[in-house]
Amino acid sequence: MNLELSEEQTAVRRLAREFTEREIAPYAADWDRAESVDRSIVRKLGDLGFLGLTVPEQYGGSGGDHLAYALVTEELGRGDSAVRGIVSVSLGLVAKTIAAWGTEEQKQAWLPRLCSGEALGCFGLTEPDTGSDAGNLTTRATREGDEYVLGGSKMFITNGTWADVVLLFARTNAEPGHRGVSAFLVPADSPGLTRREIHGKLGLRGQATAELALDGVRVPAGAMLGPEGKGFSVAMSALAKGRMSVAAGCVGIAQAALDAAVAYAGRREQFGKPIARHQLVQELIADISVDVDAARLLTWRVADLIDRGQSFATEASTAKLFASEAAVRAASNALQVHGGYGYIDEYPAGKLLRDARVMTLYEGTSQIQKLLIGRARTGVSAF
Ligand SMILES: Cc1cc2nc3c(=O)[nH]c(=O)nc-3n(C[C@H](O)[C@H](O)[C@H](O)COP(=O)(O)OP(=O)(O)OC[C@H]3O[C@@H](n4cnc5c(N)ncnc54)[C@H](O)[C@@H]3O)c2cc1C
Repeated sequence: MNLELSEEQTAVRRLAREFTEREIAPYAADWDRAESVDRSIVRKLGDLGFLGLTVPEQYGGSGGDHLAYALVTEELGRGDSAVRGIVSVSLGLVAKTIAAWGTEEQKQAWLPRLCSGEALGCFGLTEPDTGSDAGNLTTRATREGDEYVLGGSKMFITNGTWADVVLLFARTNAEPGHRGVSAFLVPADSPGLTRREIHGKLGLRGQATAELALDGVRVPAGAMLGPEGKGFSVAMSALAKGRMSVAAGCVGIAQAALDAAVAYAGRREQFGKPIARHQLVQELIADISVDVDAARLLTWRVADLIDRGQSFATEASTAKLFASEAAVRAASNALQVHGGYGYIDEYPAGKLLRDARVMTLYEGTSQIQKLLIGRARTGVSAF
């Protein structure tokens, strides 16, 4: 793998960095306190092509490779994970999945709008009683003539109240486990679909996370994404690639932690010298720096494998596991460098730690990533 970025990748990273410094970072703390990012950010992301990366231009996408996508998600994550998550879900989990599995009609119907930011997507897999064990979901899709009728509920859905389309997973036959699951593209304004925003999150407060309730929601049979009974494969293929963008977002958090720790250590003086000159403070900073580099390299490896058409699922689990745990460590170490001031929300370390904490939970917890890696290495499943 060549670690030197191409001209195009360097340019897109610069664009994302400048955009983040101008349009995101100055407002992130206020959005966190207000529990909502400014919705105009979605159109701005679309205008720059950040909601269409890797999607073919014929469908309104902005093309580019997965390394460019990782670079952009890192920069957005460095500014505000709440914004990064909007992209990772609407583009990473929804638009890219439509591009991979959709019919021509589905691609034409949704991709141009999703890539421009005119519409947002959300990913409805988790339910109140099935999180890690998503294959046992109970939302039902019953065939009635040319339609399916959907009933059930979904939990913790990112972009849930903002989305225009839900990539929804539901059981189409009585067979237990993942074989009975199919995927659907459900317009969010469908009669019978209600959405309730979940408040009081520890982090990612600027992001709209919602509970969805479906009661007699009717969609045409043509709303099914991928073959009947293959919904779990659709979900797992989305999540495998999605883990790369979560990992990249975590690199962004760790990099922001490093930047904040270095800046503070240079100006705060104790015992008559900047704390950066105390060896144990340098140790904290060195630990963050190693985490940033290691997480970034693991993430880039996944991007490189995807772009070369190689298998990447175990490497994506490895990157997501390491980068999410590293982001939590890095943010916690940065908070330590700030002493008591780190505990006050005027400084960025606290928000970085709160935002990082969910990364070891969603898109497969750290325990689930370990089981996936263990299964790949041993050939034996512990699920
Ligand atoms: C802010 C936020 C946003 C989210 N966004 C989305 C979204 O957009 N779409 C969506 O579908 N979901 C979303 N989720 C849901 C998320 O993916 C789930 O929370 C996650 O998969 C874990 O499921 P759970 O919360 O039910 O925990 P559980 O599955 O109940 O797990 C509880 C604990 O048990 C452990 N555990 C479970 N099974 C095993 C096992 N076999 N071996 C060892 N340990 C195990 C877990 O690691 C965890 O520590 C989001 C969650 C949050 C908090």
